[in-house]
Amino acid sequence: MAIEQVDDEPESAAKTIPHWYSADNDDVPTLVDGDGVEVFDADGRAYLDFQSQLYCVNAGHSNQRIIDAIADQLARIPYVSSGKHNDTRNELVTRLLEVAPESMSQTLFSISGSEANEAAVMLAREYADAPKVLTRWRSYHGATYGTASLTGDTDTSSYIQSHAAMTGNAKFLPPIPAAFDAESPDELAEQAANHLEFVIRNEGPDSIAAILTEIVAGSSGGFTAPPGYFERVRELCDEYDILLIADEVITGFGRTGEWFGAQSEGVQPDLMTFAKGVTSSYVPLAGVMMNAAIADYVAEEGFDIGQTFAGHPVGCAAGLAAMDVYEDELLENARSVAPHLESRLTALEERFDVVSSVHGRGLLWGVEFTDPETGEPFVDPRVSDADNPVKSVLSAAGENGAIFGMGRPGIQLLVSPPLCVTETEIDEAV
Ligand code: PLP
Repeated sequence: MAIEQVDDEPESAAKTIPHWYSADNDDVPTLVDGDGVEVFDADGRAYLDFQSQLYCVNAGHSNQRIIDAIADQLARIPYVSSGKHNDTRNELVTRLLEVAPESMSQTLFSISGSEANEAAVMLAREYADAPKVLTRWRSYHGATYGTASLTGDTDTSSYIQSHAAMTGNAKFLPPIPAAFDAESPDELAEQAANHLEFVIRNEGPDSIAAILTEIVAGSSGGFTAPPGYFERVRELCDEYDILLIADEVITGFGRTGEWFGAQSEGVQPDLMTFAKGVTSSYVPLAGVMMNAAIADYVAEEGFDIGQTFAGHPVGCAAGLAAMDVYEDELLENARSVAPHLESRLTALEERFDVVSSVHGRGLLWGVEFTDPETGEPFVDPRVSDADNPVKSVLSAAGENGAIFGMGRPGIQLLVSPPLCVTETEIDEAV
């Protein structure tokens, strides 16, 4: 029997498979270096990283204060298990509680945003002694079995949604114009809150442990809620005895101009999850913050999901340093450049008929594209690349040295630079 000789390695074996929907995208650069807002590929080409990679390198690339803190921790004691005390971890708990919304009283660490959301949901279900969790359509909460089930964006996560396994949850409509027939933001807030109340009553308030929601939608398109909406959501949670969990995985750590998105909305959550920006993503770290009543429950009953890498001291050291950087320099900068980013992006609406709306807050924006001829969104690029301006813009941006994110495929471009971005860099990228 002849054995066929294979001379050449298949080309694909030389590269890792690009993540997300870019499997067909050979222009994804191999990044080897970074500095502030810029990243550099293997050929030395510079790109303005207006995606902060995955909306997470909030302090910018290669911040020396964070790198030094990581090195110091590694040199001292690299790992202490989550069941024991560690000085760096204890210090980070105190520091987080200093800047969190007033309702927050304790922190449990995790590893990733998905796992933090899983933990928050497990804790909420245990504490409330009820099974259901409500989340909204057009949301992203993670890629584990549970969080994939809670995610309400079938476009961006159809792969993971096919693994969705958690039952006993229900979805509600997000407070966005496309979901209601409202003539003003006030009317939109009222209609969306009334709809949520309908879902609560229909599901049975006693069966609902929590509502889990992003405060500003991240990868589903940078949507903000109309004024007054979250006030009503809080009132509904109080009236029906339901916990409010804020998913701050993207909106935490200065992304919306405040430490947390909940503060930019004036809402006090019962539980709050964070990840990404806590360490500027230099190393993985995530966590769940909780109000005093839930913290007391945990102190009495225990809540031990014991993950080996939860609250890793190196992550906690990075978190402390990143928080210093945010406090000393970057929160202020994010607030001061955000209006410039907003005005440069909203000007695109006037200038291009394919840009149908621009929405967001702070340094998290969605630029929405609609086919001007049909008034409908462009096609999903995984189905067809034809005439999809979002993908063309991403490609052209890449060729011209700028990286943006894609929200709903074929519909939104996401703009989310590191907090150290300057007005000149914003002008260049836009
Ligand atoms: N929640 C939100 C709002 C997110 O955007 C993400 C990730 O992008 C997650 C949760 C999941 O976080 P991770 O990817 O760290 O598991």
